[in-house]
Amino acid sequence: MCKTICFLVLYGDMKKKLLSGIQPSGTIHIGNYFGAIKQFVDLQDEYDSSVFIADFHAITTLQDKEELSKNIIDIALDYLACGLDPEKVCLFKQSDIPEVTELAWYFNCLTTMPYLERANAYKDAKAKNKEVNVGLFDYPILMAADILIQDADVVPVGADQKQHIEYARDTAQKFNNTYGETFKLPEPLILKEVAIVPGIDGRKMSKSYKNTIPLFGTDEEIKKAVMKIVTDSKEPSDKKDPDTCNIFALHKLFLKEDDLKNLRNRYTQGGLGYKESKEMLLKEILDFIRPMREKREMYANDLNKVRTILADGAKKAKLVVNEKMKIIRDNVGVNI
Ligand code: ATP
Ligand code: MG
Repeated sequence: MCKTICFLVLYGDMKKKLLSGIQPSGTIHIGNYFGAIKQFVDLQDEYDSSVFIADFHAITTLQDKEELSKNIIDIALDYLACGLDPEKVCLFKQSDIPEVTELAWYFNCLTTMPYLERANAYKDAKAKNKEVNVGLFDYPILMAADILIQDADVVPVGADQKQHIEYARDTAQKFNNTYGETFKLPEPLILKEVAIVPGIDGRKMSKSYKNTIPLFGTDEEIKKAVMKIVTDSKEPSDKKDPDTCNIFALHKLFLKEDDLKNLRNRYTQGGLGYKESKEMLLKEILDFIRPMREKREMYANDLNKVRTILADGAKKAKLVVNEKMKIIRDNVGVNI
């Protein structure tokens, strides 16, 4: 008995720390699920996990009070519906840990403008002649603070976020070089087969590209998105290339190996129209999300419980953060 408990305690201590978050900047989509949330769920036993709602990040692009609050609750419901277990994972809201903005400030003072100008998200926005606010420009540094303040070992993300993890590593190194060893260097955790889920127009599925299939949309919303998936103009009888088809790329997420192989054959032999392929995909998606929808509904009927889960998560996160901030402030020299 004692041995078992000792082992569990020891094992608990040995677990690596996982941390990740999603911005409440819109409705989550199947790219967010397969690229990020599914991994949080799959890894929740293996890692000491913290998953947060990145509301400070969202206000770089969303400055509507009602919409932001609604999105925050929605993401909490999404996390829980997708299978994150609050008994295993520390679920919290970023703005409940305002210390991250303090840490981001220390990092800002070590970061040069040209370094941040190399960030892909900033370069994209510039290329589109978008006005970039200082918050959006500084996004990678706040993200570095989110990760480093909790001493995360791994950060499961989609491939689009890889550069941000590199920024976090660079920033940790800069701080360590300036103020002495303080932070460990986090690793990204990217599953190759779902690194980038394509949207209905074939580009990366993104809330901001408006090319998404919403994970918890109504049947009608999901159908509308699926039916709009862009294809070439081949007739049903034509032979088709599954590897360049946006619909097929999405089937890959839902079908078992054998079913996918059969579908591949139907594509290459001809006789399968894109409309039929889309209808099949729609059914796969709806079947897949049914149990998650039911769970979401259950939590949506008890929002106080959801708020308590987030408040408890914030309390737990604060314990780690307060300890770390003491060391950071000491090392920076603001503790007198
Ligand atoms: P935005 O357009 O506002 O950047 P987004 O749709 O890219 O939104 P984020 O909140 O930036 O979503 O991303 C949340 C998580 O989901 C991140 O880990 C990101 O890498 C992952 N993710 C987002 N889109 C995809 C995608 N198409 N394929 C795989 N992973 C994705
Ligand atoms: Mg994104």
